[in-house]
Amino acid sequence: MSSTPHCRFCRAPLTHTVVDLGLQPISNDYLTEEQFRSGTERVYPLHARVCDVCFLVQADDSVPADEIFDADYAYFSSFSTSWLEHCRQYAEAAIRRFQLGPDSLVVEVASNDGYLLQYFKQGGVPVLGVEPTANTAAVAIEKGVPTEVAFFNEETGRRLAAQGVKADLMHGANVLAHVPDIGGFVAGFQHVLKPEGTLSFEFPHLLQMMEKVQFDTIYHEHFSYLSLLAVERVLAANGLRAYDVEELWTHGGSLRLFCCHKDAPFAETEALKRVRAAEIAAGLDRIATYEAFTAKVEAVRAEFLDYLRAAKAAGRKVAAYGAAAKGNTFLNYAHVGTGDIVACFDRNPAKQDKRLPGSHIPVLSPDKVAEVRPDDVLILPWNIKGEIMEQMAFIRDWGGRFVTAAPHVEIVE
Ligand SMILES: [Zn+2]
Repeated sequence: MSSTPHCRFCRAPLTHTVVDLGLQPISNDYLTEEQFRSGTERVYPLHARVCDVCFLVQADDSVPADEIFDADYAYFSSFSTSWLEHCRQYAEAAIRRFQLGPDSLVVEVASNDGYLLQYFKQGGVPVLGVEPTANTAAVAIEKGVPTEVAFFNEETGRRLAAQGVKADLMHGANVLAHVPDIGGFVAGFQHVLKPEGTLSFEFPHLLQMMEKVQFDTIYHEHFSYLSLLAVERVLAANGLRAYDVEELWTHGGSLRLFCCHKDAPFAETEALKRVRAAEIAAGLDRIATYEAFTAKVEAVRAEFLDYLRAAKAAGRKVAAYGAAAKGNTFLNYAHVGTGDIVACFDRNPAKQDKRLPGSHIPVLSPDKVAEVRPDDVLILPWNIKGEIMEQMAFIRDWGGRFVTAAPHVEIVE
């Protein structure tokens, strides 16, 4: 661990810290009571750095690959109604924009349980999913979404192309940030994409993380934190380029980037130029901007701990909502435990009656809220805060309040 890490894209030595979040358990490793009592939880460094050559922000590879299990994505695809609505709207818009029909093909990489491709299929467009997790792929196939069980990389791209798979539209939602070898992953697309096809990627926008101090989006399963600036370099190295972008509300602010082959006849849009200019105005092309981040993160933690002390002093019972990865990074960095937060409510039955990694806060079904009667509910997945406040509006019956922590503590009565 003492040797200097190297950039996962351009291999330059990484000598600049964005933020060091200390030793943390894997954010999706929810503990059963038995695991909790055995006290064998492992922790790994969680340290985000920036490359001063390509400006890719990245976390160290500190966790053995076989211990990484990314359940966060499953959380969004299966348990958030607003996320599914977002997917349905995207499919409908893409069918219109790219004039997709029965002779087209849409390929999604990391297609999960077919949560997105089902809407293309309903629109009469042939689809193919590529998904590395066999049991998730099986769910998709059961829904009638043809799915290839594979990790996507250059070799997979070549193999699919050799089998005659040629896509009019390829899509990757929140996968670009989750692959360890971002260059090798992007290299696969040029083989499968038709000469005038479009490739779209969605990823949380680094600009939002920097400006809104969303350091809780940093966790072990999340390898890269992406700006347009950095992604354009990765595309260029693989014969691809971006031509358009949409800014989305998902994950606290994401980009949906539309890309094509380098020589394809798509003109660059004003929207793309605007985002590029905004990143430069925010200093994402300067190391000093990244080095200023740690102080902002420390300020968020200090403000949250002040709130927690005041709430305790006033005798308020604090609970949390949403056992998402980002919540765990936040709670563990703030060294919050069961003495501070009595429970964390979550709709996902797979997480209920377990404990959050690190903080060991018990995860309960939302059915138990009225029983626990929290005075304050800390919303951990702030990106779906509106949805949660609607579902939990009844806590106001006993004077309950909603709290979010970043970039400042906000209390909604
Ligand atoms: Zn680099």
